[in-house]
Amino acid sequence: MVKKQLLAALCCLIHLTTCNYESTEWAVVGAGPAGITTVGLLLDAGIEPNQITWIDPEFNVGWLGNYCDNVPANVKTRLFVEFILACNEFCSLSTESIKKLFTYEPEKEYELFIILDPLRDITHHLLKKINSIQAKVTSLAYHDLTWHVGTAKKQIFSKKVILATGSHPRTLDYDCDCQIPLHDALDKERLKHYLEPDDTIGVIGGSHSAILILKHLHELATKRIINFYKNPIVYPVDMGDWELHASAGLRGETAYWAKNVLEKEKPANILRLKNSKKTRTTWLPICDKIIYACGFERNDLPQNDNTTPYECYDCTNGSIAPGLFGIGIAFPEKWEDPHGNIEYGIGIPDFMEYVQDSLPSWMRKKQTGYLLRFNQLVTIKQL
Ligand SMILES: Cc1cc2nc3c(=O)[nH]c(=O)nc-3n(C[C@H](O)[C@H](O)[C@H](O)COP(=O)(O)OP(=O)(O)OC[C@H]3O[C@@H](n4cnc5c(N)ncnc54)[C@H](O)[C@@H]3O)c2cc1C
Repeated sequence: MVKKQLLAALCCLIHLTTCNYESTEWAVVGAGPAGITTVGLLLDAGIEPNQITWIDPEFNVGWLGNYCDNVPANVKTRLFVEFILACNEFCSLSTESIKKLFTYEPEKEYELFIILDPLRDITHHLLKKINSIQAKVTSLAYHDLTWHVGTAKKQIFSKKVILATGSHPRTLDYDCDCQIPLHDALDKERLKHYLEPDDTIGVIGGSHSAILILKHLHELATKRIINFYKNPIVYPVDMGDWELHASAGLRGETAYWAKNVLEKEKPANILRLKNSKKTRTTWLPICDKIIYACGFERNDLPQNDNTTPYECYDCTNGSIAPGLFGIGIAFPEKWEDPHGNIEYGIGIPDFMEYVQDSLPSWMRKKQTGYLLRFNQLVTIKQL
C-alpha cells in the first residue's frame, strides 16, 4: 500500500515537473511582423512544426497591431503583396483579408490595416500549427549547448532562439507635463479627443511619425503647432540600382503633404524650429501639450546571466551568440549606402529579405559566435 502511494506521488511529481518544462529545436520570442516572418520561413525551410515554440504575451502583431490600423502606410501595397508571396506558408492561406490585400491598387499606399489584418490571420493559422506560450520571456541563459528560456508559465530548453522582441516609442523629459501618447497621436480620430480649441501643441521629431502628426494636427484645426526637429525632411531618391534615403525618406500620403503643403506654403499655424536648448527654453513654456515622435527604442531584453552579450549582435546576419539570433526593429539589418549614409531595414518587407538571407546560417549545425565567460569575450565553436 505504502509502495503504491509512493509510486503515485512520484508519478505526480514527474508529471508536474515535465509540465513546467518543454524542449524544442527553435524558440521564437515575439509575435510582431518580424516574429511572424521568422516562423513562416522556418516552416518553409522544412522545420517540423512541433519543433518550433513561439512565445509572446499577446499574439496581436506587435506594437503596430495594437495601435496602427488607421495609420497610413509608408510603403506601396505591391511590397506587402510581395511580402505575402515570398513565404509559401503565408500563400497557402486564403482568408478574406489576404484576398482583399490582392485587390488594392499595387502602386498606392493605404492604411496599415491592409497588411495588419492578413498578419492577424496568419498568426491564428500559425498558432494552430506550432507550439506556443502566451507569456513574456523573462530570462535567458546558455548551459550545455542549450538555451534555457524562462517564462512565468514554463521553462523552455531550446537549441536555437530567435529574439524578435521589438521596440517602443522613445520619450524625453522635456518640461511639459501633459503628454499625448504617440500611439494616440498617430491616429487622427483618437488624437481629436485630446485637443481643445486654444491648444498649442509641441511635436518633437522630424521624420515619418512627426510629419504625419503635424498633418493630423493641421487638419484638426489646432490653434498653434510647434515642431522641434533635428534633421531636415528628406525623400527617397531613385539612384538607379539603389535608393538614397531608403529608410529615412518620407513616403506615401505623408510625403505628399510635406512636399505640397508644409514645404511649399507652410500653414500659418505651424512653426518649425531646429531643436536646441535655446528654442526649447523659449517656446516649450507656451506648449499646453507635447507629443514625442522622436524614434523608437528596443524593448527590454530577457535578463541573462551575463553569458549573452546582446551588444555583440552582428547586423549582417542577426547572430548574437551560438544559436541565438536577433531580427526585426530591435535587431535590424544595417548597411552603408554608396554615399556613406547608414541605413536600417525596419520595414515589414525588409524583415522577409533579411530572414531569407540569414536563415541558412541560422540553420547550420556548426555555429560560431561570442559568449561572455569569466568576464572575458571569447569565441565559441558549437559542434
Ligand atoms: C507609425 C509606424 C508606421 C509604420 N509604417 C510602416 C509601413 O507602412 N510599412 C512597413 O513596412 N513598416 C512600417 N513601420 C515599421 C515596422 O512596422 C516596424 O518596424 C515593425 O512593426 C516592427 O516589428 P517587430 O516584429 O520587429 O517588433 P514589434 O512590432 O514591436 O513586436 C515585438 C513583439 O515582441 C513581443 N515581446 C517583446 N519582448 C518580449 C519578451 N521578453 N517575451 C515575449 N515577447 C516579447 C512584444 O509583445 C511584441 O508582440 C511602421 C512603424 C511605425 C511605428
